[in-house]
Amino acid sequence: MSPSLFAAKSYRTPALVLRTHKLGEADRIVVLLTPEHGQVRAVAKGVRRTSSKLGATLEPFMFVDVQLVRGRTLEVVTQAQLRAPYGQALAADYARYTSAHAMAETAERLTETDGESGAAQFRLLHGAVAALARGDTDPGLLLDSYLLRALATAGWAPSFTDCVRCGAPGPHTAVNIPLGGVVCHDCRPAGSQSPAPETVGLLAALLSGDWSRANGSPPGARREAAGIVAGYLQWHLERVVKSLKHVERA
Ligand SMILES: [Zn+2]
Repeated sequence: MSPSLFAAKSYRTPALVLRTHKLGEADRIVVLLTPEHGQVRAVAKGVRRTSSKLGATLEPFMFVDVQLVRGRTLEVVTQAQLRAPYGQALAADYARYTSAHAMAETAERLTETDGESGAAQFRLLHGAVAALARGDTDPGLLLDSYLLRALATAGWAPSFTDCVRCGAPGPHTAVNIPLGGVVCHDCRPAGSQSPAPETVGLLAALLSGDWSRANGSPPGARREAAGIVAGYLQWHLERVVKSLKHVERA
């Protein structure tokens, strides 16, 4: 390790652990989302030894306070303190765990290059992971609401009320994914989908955070909405979010 790495400045920040992967024999790379520094990739040294105190703290979906030293390519974690062990609550439940994975993968993708929306993306993910850990709302609904709002925060706000092309007030029944939501009868291009009206209503509720309406939605609308959200996500990320396929839908 070069001594210049340690001459650099250190800083402290709250962070959500998005993902970890192994590095060498005993180290781990942790991908963090922070409110002020956006996405941060850091090396946690020695954490895979059983004696490491950092190890259990730096697991996916843990909310931590970390002390970081700036490096040339990666930061180095020198301390980590647990603030909320969301990872523990999520690991016990498959549906919540897989939903959290899909959220984290999306957050990682959306904040890879976009440093500007970091604070908003952090707040959104933190709220969603905390709600998943509480376990009082359907994980699939929380996931789809999170995905729509994360895309909106990244600059790709869909509309499920007014026509995305001409602005004519809804409700409209046709959805066009490349155009970003519902289209009126006059604007409707070939290839638009015609989901059930409850599905469009659910999508609008998930985007605006109208939970009383979302929680009252029928299973068929939830499944159909999930397919539209996945399509919209893939259209903008230009890649499949791999962890979405592990999420079980009711
Ligand atoms: Zn229109």
